[in-house]
Amino acid sequence: MNVKENTIEKVKCLIIGSGPAGYTAGIYASRANLNPVIIEGLQPGGQLTTTTEIDNFPGYPKGISGPVMMGELKKQAERFGCDCRWGIVSKSNLEQRPFRLTIDGKTEIEAESVIIATGATAKYLGLESEEKYKGSGVSACATCDGFFYRGKNVAVVGGGDTACEEASYLAGLCKKVYLIVRKDYLRASKAMQERVFNTQNIEVLFEHNTKELSGENGVEACTLIKKAGTSMEQEVKIDIDGFFLAIGHHPNSDVFKKYIDTDEQGYIITQAGTPITNVKGVFACGDVQDPNYRQAITSAASGCQAAIEAERYLAELN
Ligand code: NDP
Repeated sequence: MNVKENTIEKVKCLIIGSGPAGYTAGIYASRANLNPVIIEGLQPGGQLTTTTEIDNFPGYPKGISGPVMMGELKKQAERFGCDCRWGIVSKSNLEQRPFRLTIDGKTEIEAESVIIATGATAKYLGLESEEKYKGSGVSACATCDGFFYRGKNVAVVGGGDTACEEASYLAGLCKKVYLIVRKDYLRASKAMQERVFNTQNIEVLFEHNTKELSGENGVEACTLIKKAGTSMEQEVKIDIDGFFLAIGHHPNSDVFKKYIDTDEQGYIITQAGTPITNVKGVFACGDVQDPNYRQAITSAASGCQAAIEAERYLAELN
């Protein structure tokens, strides 16, 4: 069903985003009779729909594909009456209740409570070959996809904490891990750096930039440009099966920033251990408020918390 046009619809609980956080919030909110509406966003199902196999979500001993799992979560939310709609929130007015959200630049909805579950988008380098191999060698999540590269050679791009953490994680599974760093130093914390330097099967390639990926059946090699001396550049080719991006995420909070407190990277600030934001009646869950864990299971758990808090908030109001 598409968002109704030209009428101001009133809802008790509007959930924005449809990853594990959004759908879990939907399951809990609909079971609590909040008649929630989920605005699913551009990519219904969220980031997990771009993953192949999910082996670390409890309850699936044989693993499950990302799109199938998200389809099941959606069905579960709909089973209790959750109204899932395609659309994106293009504008928000969270100044006062009822909150007013604009969908796709044209339709307005008034909501007594809002749950923001818009996630965070992994940054990519923007190479054509990177796009070509997404899902067949290119990944932005080592915890999700690392298992498929057991005993193989992989590369991780980035020099921050995420890159070092992902490289260390992959080193436990893979034969060799190249860490491709564009500068001549790592930005990561000292502890993370030490972990990387002390891991034998991680090779750090400082001052290297990725030129392109190649391979007949998925990624088989990566061509790098190495800075040599002040103005000289040199091409280097490494044989790899997996290419992991760890150059940061962009939390999808821009449309709420006028009202909702965020940190300097844009992650929504919530009260510790809760989904409560600085605006009463607006809750945040999942990756949009979590720069640290970013797992489907932690997202789902915070979606549950957000729905419970929304229910409490609405009960107090009434
Ligand atoms: P960061 O922004 O800290 O680091 C991004 C890294 O990617 C930098 O090394 C940057 O290089 C590099 N990079 C960016 N763009 C490109 C590009 N186009 N080509 C090549 N390299 C590029 O992001 P993180 O995700 O690592 O961390 C985000 C936040 O989360 C940080 O505050 C971090 O401390 C925190 N975090 C904490 C963890 C923990 O405590 N366990 C674990 C993970 C994250 P350059 O340095 O040259 O700009």
